[in-house]
Amino acid sequence: MIIAETIAEVRAVVREWKRQGLTVGLVPTMGYLHEGHASLVRESVRRCDRTVASVFVNPTQFGPNEDLATYPRDFERDREILEREGCDMVFHPSVGEMYPEGFATYVEIQSDMPKQLCGKSRPIHFRGVCTVVCKLFNIAEPDMAFFGEKDAQQLAIVKRMARDLSMAVEVIGCPIVREEDGLAKSSRNAYLDGEERGAALVLSKAVALGKKMTEEGERDAAKVTAAMRALIEAEPLARVDYVSAVDGETMAPSEKIKDGTLVALAVYIGKTRLIDNFTFRDRA
Ligand code: AMP
Repeated sequence: MIIAETIAEVRAVVREWKRQGLTVGLVPTMGYLHEGHASLVRESVRRCDRTVASVFVNPTQFGPNEDLATYPRDFERDREILEREGCDMVFHPSVGEMYPEGFATYVEIQSDMPKQLCGKSRPIHFRGVCTVVCKLFNIAEPDMAFFGEKDAQQLAIVKRMARDLSMAVEVIGCPIVREEDGLAKSSRNAYLDGEERGAALVLSKAVALGKKMTEEGERDAAKVTAAMRALIEAEPLARVDYVSAVDGETMAPSEKIKDGTLVALAVYIGKTRLIDNFTFRDRA
């Protein structure tokens, strides 16, 4: 596996692959990899001739009071996981390589889409995400890029950006990978102590409750989200950021649950902010 730290190195390798007529898949990550990331790499390896993963804790998507400085990092372990999964190149740039002196250009969706859900408590987050993902698309020129449905708003926003800016990449969503007890895998789960790890189960339990209610026919979004919120609020270590039902593509609030409705939540467990969601599918 090639380890590239500069944009020029990635470009040179990708140029050679393209010359050979090979397709390229990209898996952007912030590292501290787990089975969720590995599932994206596997999907890319399955669908593309060559796979590039990026490991970069992107400072522009963190707010001033967020966890940029403490975000978990272990590049040696990440490198081993990527190699094992058949990744062909990992791009592991420095902050200076991605944001050189004088950097001043950002990509931002000018609608309410990035202001809903996570955007309410993280106002600059999706501007940072769009900017770094746009840069990664320009650097690796992937045919396909793989993102997890765990970050459903991010996936919808990246899809919108790629469509709006005519980017030559297919953005592909992959299912949420969970721990055996249901907790969605996340690098931030490493922050949880023993008691918090138990309390964090309220997220997946709330998702399971919402899913059950909608599968049993409940279509009133307020009733579903209120029941989910009550379940979470019964846990003393949990503090709800939001529990919302929105259109899965536009992120506009939904009063009725229908095919494609995204029911998403963010919850603080102690100081750790975790997210989870499900998308309602009308099987009828
Ligand atoms: P992150 O390193 O947290 O920025 O995540 C990098 C990519 O992995 C994003 O596309 C995430 O949506 C995806 N991802 C993170 N956790 C999971 C999970 N539990 N299941 C599936 N995809 C995930």
